[in-house]
Amino acid sequence: MNREIKEKILQKIKDYDRIMLFRHIRNDGDCVGATKGFKRILQLSFPEKEIYLIDADTAKYLEFMGPEDEPVADELYTDALGIVIDTATENRISNKKYTLCKEIIKIDHHIPLTDYGCLVWVEEERSSACEMIVDFYNTFKDELKIDSEAATHLYTGMVTDSGRFKYDGVSGDTLRNAATLLDVGVDTQTLFARLYLEAFEYLKFKAQIYQRMQITENGVAYIYIDKAMQEEFNLTLEQASACVGTLDSIRGCICWMVFIDNNDEEGSIRVRLRSRFVHVNPIAEKYRGGGHACACGATVYSVEEMNALLRDADALVKEYKQTHEDWL
Ligand code: AMP
Repeated sequence: MNREIKEKILQKIKDYDRIMLFRHIRNDGDCVGATKGFKRILQLSFPEKEIYLIDADTAKYLEFMGPEDEPVADELYTDALGIVIDTATENRISNKKYTLCKEIIKIDHHIPLTDYGCLVWVEEERSSACEMIVDFYNTFKDELKIDSEAATHLYTGMVTDSGRFKYDGVSGDTLRNAATLLDVGVDTQTLFARLYLEAFEYLKFKAQIYQRMQITENGVAYIYIDKAMQEEFNLTLEQASACVGTLDSIRGCICWMVFIDNNDEEGSIRVRLRSRFVHVNPIAEKYRGGGHACACGATVYSVEEMNALLRDADALVKEYKQTHEDWL
């Protein structure tokens, strides 16, 4: 059912000598894995083409995936095809030079808010953008080449964005696509160790999260990691933000979220929202954000606004619990 759009994308790739890959700000395993994995597939399959992945935004916990390409002159963008992966809206594209590209293709699995590009391939039910890249590879596997380097990048994104194949979006297709990668060759022991082992001190911080977490009347679990707490535990913003999963297994809490002071001049607070059963993206969208139905992000600018968001989430959860019986 998605063959037509994939054929058009492949044709565009064939039409261009130079291809630039782009992803979203505040990168994660999926956007890094998808861009690196796709880059590798394109390099192996079309060795005569120039393929670039230029992005200054990096995350410490993903450094093992290797560096990005060095910046190039603006002229090199102008006759290139840009492929933006895993990014719902243009304002979230990390390397702003994407606007210089001759044409743009969007490949994404987020709920589309405003589309962009000459070709748009969005499947919001996919558990990761990496899964879409593997699907693309499988569709044209007679023409495309893959190796264990590409497979490892793509598997990284599939594992991280699906919560180790736990979240709702995981389908038979997800596992079939993951199987393709394992058949090519992924050292899963090493990968899981790189992704999930935690420092002794970080576990001490997690213990404090369990001490300090709060819960609203109808079961929204949350914690506010303000500047003081970040300093107390000597946390980078990335480390402070990473703890959202800590709140994910409380019976009766079908929604949980973390607020993190960004320590900027505007006093902005990053919100990471997560849920099961109930869809929380309308709350994220109300507070300048978006994402997926059960995993999204937003920004608030004061503690009052944080409390307003919590009240909205609490009301949403209350309504859901009153009208559904499927939750626990
Ligand atoms: P995060 O909590 O940052 O991991 O975000 C969860 C999901 O929502 C990711 O897929 C993000 O790309 C997306 N997301 C986060 N923040 C925003 C935002 N402000 N606007 C749109 N999407 C977002």
